[in-house]
Amino acid sequence: MVHGRWVTMDFQSLHPRDQLAVIMERIYRCGMTTASGGNLSVLDEAGEIWITPAGVDKGDLFAEDIVCVKAGGSTEGRHRPSSELPLHKAVYAARPDVRAVIHAHPCALVAFCLVRGVPDTRILPQAAAVCGSVGYTPYTFPASEQLGQAVAAGFRDGHNTVLLENHGAVTAGQALLQAFHRLETLEFCAQLTIRAHVLGRATVLSDEQIAMSRHTEYLLEEYEPRAQVPGERALRLELCEFVRRAYRQRIMISTEGTLSARLDDGSFLITPYGFDRAYVETGQLVRIDRGRREAGKVPSRAVRLHEAIYASRPEVGCILCAQAPHSTAFSVVADATFDTAAMPESYVMLRELPVVPFGPQYEDVSRVAALITKRTPVLLIRNDGVLATGRSPAEAYDRVEVAEFSARSLIEAAMIGEVAPISRRELARLDQAYPVE
Ligand SMILES: [Zn+2]
Repeated sequence: MVHGRWVTMDFQSLHPRDQLAVIMERIYRCGMTTASGGNLSVLDEAGEIWITPAGVDKGDLFAEDIVCVKAGGSTEGRHRPSSELPLHKAVYAARPDVRAVIHAHPCALVAFCLVRGVPDTRILPQAAAVCGSVGYTPYTFPASEQLGQAVAAGFRDGHNTVLLENHGAVTAGQALLQAFHRLETLEFCAQLTIRAHVLGRATVLSDEQIAMSRHTEYLLEEYEPRAQVPGERALRLELCEFVRRAYRQRIMISTEGTLSARLDDGSFLITPYGFDRAYVETGQLVRIDRGRREAGKVPSRAVRLHEAIYASRPEVGCILCAQAPHSTAFSVVADATFDTAAMPESYVMLRELPVVPFGPQYEDVSRVAALITKRTPVLLIRNDGVLATGRSPAEAYDRVEVAEFSARSLIEAAMIGEVAPISRRELARLDQAYPVE
């Protein structure tokens, strides 16, 4: 994958001060730092380091709070620079390609640091490519030169993230957004692995399986749409709103998740490949018409599967493939049972939940499409997540949220006892009251 694709032009054109304030806010909002923890920096063309300040609330940080550290070592700004400045400097010195560094204490990654482990990014198809290699360094005193040198040694060895024993994580990238994507994706892999641990043993993908998701033959031929289809403008807006909402609700992360919806003329719109889900805009959605893609745009790699489902299921108006931490945890444990019949809401909204092995969603799309029926509108795809269909974006979105809530309840139930089943008789009553239409 070309990492640069994830970096939207708009974001890159922001001043480093603004980039840092925006990303600090995202890190805080998605629960990856406390008000006092975490620090990030950008190295600019002039060799100046722009870094978050010491002692300022990370949930309420503005661009004016960012400190500039000049190449000679003097600082400019209304605050002192972060106490971890030596660590940031050491990473820039070790890796000339690095232009941004993030240090934070996200809970799942810290949990790995407490047991001297590193999460396996082969748990999801894109994660290894996003994160790159992950290193680990033994405990050293915080904010010390020694910590900086130990972390820098990890980056010099080619790692793009280094976990700090009993402490937290440092990620780096050629741009701030890339460093953020690495941190968020790795934290997600850690969350998945921890939740999966409650259910059994997490399985990881082989190199061949990961390669399946990146075959170039998924690239369709291009065409120039003559004009917009009636309703296209409104549908583009609606889809973007649902993608951003899915991101806010932690149903998608920046680097994972696909949404599509059908237009009246039989073509459909789908999310693009390689754009941050938090910033998806209407013009970036790709229209797919009879196996061809709108000129100049690259659709999500799930495009063939979406096309096959629309071709075989006329009632389906929208498809959402989502990676949320609890439902995806079920997908990575081979013998875990996602019992949708344990809760009425889950049973009525999801019905049965067929499990698809990893691979056919790329290599045998008609087989996966054939599993979608009115009784099975949602699928669990191994090491991938949930695929929900619906007549509308709202229906598919709701099903994904119900799947995530149900999965969370089942995982939390497994921590405290045995799940009490609903009797067959009561399930039959639900079938009667809420018949499959
Ligand atoms: Zn720290």
